[in-house]
Amino acid sequence: MVIVGGGLSAGMVARQLTAKGIEVLVLENGGDVRNSAAAKLPTQRDELRWATHTGLMQDGAAETYTWRHNRTDPSLAMRRLAVFLPGSGVGGAGNHWNGQAFRWEEYDTELRTRMETRYGKSSIPANMPIRDWGVSYSELEPYYDLFERLFGISGKAGNLRGKIMPGGNPFEAPRQNEFPQRPLEETEIGLIFRSAADKFGYKSFLSPAANSPDAYTNPDGMKLGACQYCGHCDRFICEAEAKATPSVLLYPLLARRPSFELRKFCHVIRIEHDAAGGQVRAVEYLDLLTGETFRQPADVVVLAAFTLSNTKLLLTSGIGRPYDAAANAGVVGRNFCYQTNAAISVYLPDRWLNPFLASGSTVTLIEDFDDDNFDHTGLGFLGGGFIAAGSGGGRPIAARGVPPGTPRWGTRWKQANADWYAHAGSVGFQGSSYPHRENFLDLDPDYRDAYGQPLLRVTFDMRENELRMAKYCAGKMVEIARAMGAARLGGLPEVTANFDTRGYQSTHITGGTIMGRDPATSVVSSRLQHWDAENLFVVGASVFAHNSGHNPTELVATLALRLGDDLVRYVGRPGRLA
Ligand SMILES: Cc1cc2nc3c(=O)[nH]c(=O)nc-3n(C[C@H](O)[C@H](O)[C@H](O)COP(=O)(O)OP(=O)(O)OC[C@H]3O[C@@H](n4cnc5c(N)ncnc54)[C@H](O)[C@@H]3O)c2cc1C
Ligand code: SF4
Repeated sequence: MVIVGGGLSAGMVARQLTAKGIEVLVLENGGDVRNSAAAKLPTQRDELRWATHTGLMQDGAAETYTWRHNRTDPSLAMRRLAVFLPGSGVGGAGNHWNGQAFRWEEYDTELRTRMETRYGKSSIPANMPIRDWGVSYSELEPYYDLFERLFGISGKAGNLRGKIMPGGNPFEAPRQNEFPQRPLEETEIGLIFRSAADKFGYKSFLSPAANSPDAYTNPDGMKLGACQYCGHCDRFICEAEAKATPSVLLYPLLARRPSFELRKFCHVIRIEHDAAGGQVRAVEYLDLLTGETFRQPADVVVLAAFTLSNTKLLLTSGIGRPYDAAANAGVVGRNFCYQTNAAISVYLPDRWLNPFLASGSTVTLIEDFDDDNFDHTGLGFLGGGFIAAGSGGGRPIAARGVPPGTPRWGTRWKQANADWYAHAGSVGFQGSSYPHRENFLDLDPDYRDAYGQPLLRVTFDMRENELRMAKYCAGKMVEIARAMGAARLGGLPEVTANFDTRGYQSTHITGGTIMGRDPATSVVSSRLQHWDAENLFVVGASVFAHNSGHNPTELVATLALRLGDDLVRYVGRPGRLA
């Protein structure tokens, strides 16, 4: 069995398979930094190298993407990756993630049914191809639970077997078990946000986290250290091995299993498809150390190379009909979604916020306006987001929250940094992005990557639904920010069309190879099996039919663990999985 990509989802699939002795080969195009300087002091704290210059991410000089807002616009290549940052190397973006680990809502995988039942058949505009995914929350629950135990997720249950629990998220889908670890410590800004949100009657809670509050041993005997609240999670390797990652918890385990093989610096360029036989036969890859091309035969191929590469590999290999937005036909590339985010700065001169004491997930939030947790009747949009405050870690380059009107350099800028460092924070929201007929991925006809392949082209803009939703959520966010007693607020946030790719927004990007029950509108079945090639499977957020306000990784891992078990069944009895 060949798995393309050596990140988080690949590690989860391989864990299930190799436990049964099934032979697995992972082809990963990067190296392994686990025991390198990137993971050790003092280099681990080099913010310029890892965060500003994105030293652990995909090299945009080798492979980047083109972007346009509408299919009638010309596309332009992003010379430097900024708006999203695909990971590279063993563990993928799962190594330098922040660790915010959410289950999605119970209704998320049946969103179309939910909307039509609650708001009527005509509630979903014709240009919004919202779909049911073909899988229910109750089918996924045991795998959510397994992931949380494997990654030692910290948090407080809000809905334990249907009973709403104090201190947790009352909107969460019912869970069978409490989180395996206690919640992290709360930040000062989180406490201030909480008391402001309470005044409105909103239900605040601490983010579930993959940043381990205490030393932890998982069911595989793999260990996490205790979080030091050092604030170097996002874009970094955790020096204390307290952040749950594939590099710490999965790949060392897999390396000990005899049926597992990992080949690094192998860039997969094509999947060989026997269209008449309905099978894939092999994987073609470039050895990045020697420049040689190899053909690796495979009984089964799993694409686990992240949203963008999963889609690109199907397109470059000619597997499945590319999506044609004009004709509203075809499947590969459709339902590409981003997330809808905004934040406002708050300045609290009388409070010491100590922003340096934080982990990537020390966030206090409310989900009262997330997705469909509130009644949308008469609002003119669908979806929503969570509203949150916390600290990203107060790092020296990133944490320079100076009030509007401060000069951008010179003595007064330096003085403002000193004055405000401990007193500036922000409140933000992270909102859903529902599919739109005109937002999609395809191959760019003009630009090529360093390996001679076409660049993946992104056609995306904020459409009317997301603009209205963002305006509504931003209004709620600003109300809470004002109630926090801020002496000053930053500029009011506005999400606008002509989406700006120059600044980081999120790497929570979904769709392109979506799952579903209908081959006419999905790329893979609800068991992640390709409709046109029975022994080809796709996993990752590329199979999500929409993006919610939640972070994606817990659901990515859940689907990957379930796929691993499905593949054990498939190896015993190949054929179409029911
Ligand atoms: C800065 C940052 C912060 C994040 N924080 C959070 C968070 O707090 N919470 C959350 O839920 N999510 C977060 N995410 C998202 C999270 O990292 C991803 O959801 C997760 O890693 C996806 O897993 P994956 O297996 O699909 O992809 P990855 O883990 O990225 O693995 C994909 C692998 O495929 C390899 N690959 C790609 N193309 C090829 C090819 N052609 N040939 C061979 N190999 C290939 C890549 O090198 C990579 O190693 C964050 C992401 C980033 C970048
Ligand atoms: S804040 Fe905690 S989890 Fe994050 S890098 Fe530091 S020690 Fe690791």
